[in-house]
Amino acid sequence: AMTDTAAPAAEIDRSNMRVSDEVAISIENLNKWYGEFHVLRDIDLKVMRGERIVVCGPSGSGKSTLIRCINALEEHQQGRIEVDGTVLSSDLKNIDKIRSEVGMCFQHFNLFPHLTILENCTLAPIWVRKTPRREAEETAMHFLEKVKIPEQADKYPGQLSGGQQQRVAIARSLCMRPRIMLFDEPTSALDPEMIKEVLDTMIELAQDGMTMICVTHEMGFARQVANRVIFMDQGQIVEQNEPEAFFTDPQNDRTKLFLSQIL
Ligand code: ADP
Ligand code: MG
Repeated sequence: AMTDTAAPAAEIDRSNMRVSDEVAISIENLNKWYGEFHVLRDIDLKVMRGERIVVCGPSGSGKSTLIRCINALEEHQQGRIEVDGTVLSSDLKNIDKIRSEVGMCFQHFNLFPHLTILENCTLAPIWVRKTPRREAEETAMHFLEKVKIPEQADKYPGQLSGGQQQRVAIARSLCMRPRIMLFDEPTSALDPEMIKEVLDTMIELAQDGMTMICVTHEMGFARQVANRVIFMDQGQIVEQNEPEAFFTDPQNDRTKLFLSQIL
């Protein structure tokens, strides 16, 4: 359900939260099926660099599938996806390129339980990017400071709270220096008191100018941070608007119904 845990922080710094006229992600006529089931229908979406997009909609409407298509965690059968000028095809080279630009953060943080927080953050930079260990550790500490848990670096995931683990997951993504971040309900598995600390981390990222697509029902976050809210239903983008208009003056009946159920 949509919650309003994130009390608007008055002191949001919008100076870096600018939408550029450069395209970050371009999706044209995307269609996807799971077997016979038509899960994404004629999706067209252009995301400009610096945009902060919130995607909402009923459970099963295709939100996760859509963002998983962007970094090829799901394959699509029709349409064109372009990320940072690279067209996503079945060519593995392009998949690697796109994944190196796009960080992703899920509901379940999927940290490696047998590795320390620091090791979780340096694993991919060292083994995938061939970054020297010392440099990878410095970068990891930088981002652990950014998400405000540098003191946890030598602990194991099981010793951290859910909110702390999710912030580690965000830091781990940032260590790969993505230009775009995708979030799929990053707070929905968290206890209420931990939601805010994760949203605050996401707000920081937005203030740094990160291009973000966030599937979330955190209305407070959407109002504060998003420049655009997208509503999906039955595999389609049904409506999109800037947050104030989206919440106060929805046009589509399905959007109205959805908002009436959650507000
Ligand atoms: P949302 O994130 O909006 O809840 P999803 O993208 O997870 O929606 O799922 C959209 C629809 O696709 C749902 O009906 C779901 O049951 C179905 N679905 C998701 N993943 C698979 C899969 N791997 N195989 C078959 N159906 C799936
Ligand atoms: Mg989902």
